[in-house]
Amino acid sequence: MSKLDRYLIVLGSNMRHHRFGPPERVLAAALDELDKRGIKVKRSARPIRSAPLGPSLRRYANSAALVRCKLDPAELLAELKSVERAFGRRSGGQRWGSRVLDLDLVLWSGGAWSAPGLTVPHMAFRERRFVLGPAAEIAGDWRDPLSGLTLRQLNRRRIRLESQPIKTSNRSRR
Ligand code: ADP
Ligand code: MG
Repeated sequence: MSKLDRYLIVLGSNMRHHRFGPPERVLAAALDELDKRGIKVKRSARPIRSAPLGPSLRRYANSAALVRCKLDPAELLAELKSVERAFGRRSGGQRWGSRVLDLDLVLWSGGAWSAPGLTVPHMAFRERRFVLGPAAEIAGDWRDPLSGLTLRQLNRRRIRLESQPIKTSNRSRR
């Protein structure tokens, strides 16, 4: 049995990087950088393009990666933030604004972790298509410790919910 912890990380970018180029290339370069820092990338999902969330108008590229390292969740988040900064992301920017790189820690092999500034599993991941699609592609059998559902099940449920017709009543119609 390996003593290394496993993590599922989700990556996002919606800006060009002066050296790496368009968002998809930024994500690939970020995976290389993690590897160089001893966070070993075991699998990564094909990048997908998704619509912007919040005030930014730029489209996103998203991907997910399965990594192994000997860091605990707090140490890994510090490293992820350091990589974001190395890629030119400034802290204190608008929430959901344009960013050259966003690295979120979604799942951890140790289960749940809660501390100021870090909640694992990531709070919003069950509703986000750009998280569940890539995550289910590389780790479909991984079970969310809170809902008890696998990433494959969460992704299917999300697709079912989205394909249902939107109900409107006469009262709510304008
Ligand atoms: P978002 O990722 O939601 O678009 P940010 O990247 O700006 O927004 O993150 C805001 C803060 O969320 C981070 O500074 C971090 O401390 C906190 N955070 C809490 N839980 C997590 C997690 N599981 N992964 C990444 N960041 C987290
Ligand atoms: Mg983030």
